[in-house]
Amino acid sequence: MEPLSRRTVLGGAAAGFLTAAGLTLGEELPPGDPASVAGDAPYPHRPNGDGAPIVGPTNPELQKQNPDLIAPPPTDHGKMMNLHFPFSYGHVKLEPGGWSREVTVRELPISTQMAGVNMRLKKGAFRELHWHATAEWAFMIKGNARITAMNPDGSLFVDDVTEGDLWFFPKGIPHSIQGLDSDLPDGGTEFLLVFDDGGFSEDSTFLLTDWFAHTPPEIVARQLQTTPDQLKNIPKKELFIYPGEMPDDLTKEQTNRGAKKSPANYKFSMLKQTPDFEGPGGKVHIADSLKFPVSKALIAAYVEVQPGAFRELHWHTIGDEWQYYISGFGRMTVFNAAGAARTFNFQGGDVGYIPATAPHYIQNLGNEPLRFLEVFKADVYDDLSARQWMAFTPPNLVASHLMCSKEILAKLDTKKTAIIAKD
Ligand code: MN
Ligand code: MN
Repeated sequence: MEPLSRRTVLGGAAAGFLTAAGLTLGEELPPGDPASVAGDAPYPHRPNGDGAPIVGPTNPELQKQNPDLIAPPPTDHGKMMNLHFPFSYGHVKLEPGGWSREVTVRELPISTQMAGVNMRLKKGAFRELHWHATAEWAFMIKGNARITAMNPDGSLFVDDVTEGDLWFFPKGIPHSIQGLDSDLPDGGTEFLLVFDDGGFSEDSTFLLTDWFAHTPPEIVARQLQTTPDQLKNIPKKELFIYPGEMPDDLTKEQTNRGAKKSPANYKFSMLKQTPDFEGPGGKVHIADSLKFPVSKALIAAYVEVQPGAFRELHWHTIGDEWQYYISGFGRMTVFNAAGAARTFNFQGGDVGYIPATAPHYIQNLGNEPLRFLEVFKADVYDDLSARQWMAFTPPNLVASHLMCSKEILAKLDTKKTAIIAKD
């Protein structure tokens, strides 16, 4: 294995890494990218000759996916908890109607405030009627679904959701999800759920069938105004995800038995709204309780970063940030005080996590847009921009910290940038 002397990808055996990084042959690696290429995987090496190829057992596919772990930026330092967990490493609960997998505090120990579930329902399949002790925030990744919920006053919510839509159910509100017709294999839907407790598990929800199976049959029968014999087929164990019949017409289901319409709208079409930020570097859609009033326990921003651009250096006062990467390839460095900083790579299907108030940036290293969600256990979104902070703070103060000229500071954009485009 001959280390390359130039930080340019020359081709041939490097193609595998290029695919992972979304780079084109012959293209200069992004500025600051530590990865040199040997064979088809990055290895512990820097342009000044530091490092050496791995000669013992190793996993080249994982090296290709994590060039900033294999050859960290020289600015990385100190001890930092792991902030990255791919859903691909999660246990999959396989069911006749689909599957689910989760990333909780058990998979990603730092993620104490929030947990996520990735779920697939085939056409007609139900996520059975249930509720939980946590709030549920959802993002529709692909396909179509029908969601239902009922409020304490008996008012009913039934609606259909599609790619880019959100839903939110407060804790204790019973709900269901069903896959509808779509162009996916087997139809239906795939979506992301986020819960406001890192210890949450989709396996410990209050399921209708599980509950009734553990209640004396005569009680259930009297509750449902019938006889135990009529209910002898109630499942003895949970259904969780199971194949079902396609639903009725939406309007008909919304007004079933003359039900009153829920005053709360649990659905929000986030990606159909005007972006809160849009520029040459990408765009941001914010969905917090100011726009999606029921969404008070969990809120989110959808971020799209164009190739070469980065979500600017920033932080949040409102709590930990739980991230879900939808597509693309990038990296994030998180600074966590006391000199500690660590860089992680992300691609579609990955979860990232940032402790409250720790500053970070997220850079697109690929050729496709990098798309991800920032989710917070909060009711109103906020972020602080490093550029705006430096621009508005009295220049004497900033210039003496950075040992730079005040002219540089006077030229700084005072508007929040959100995403900094490629030069
Ligand atoms: Mn649920
Ligand atoms: Mn952030």
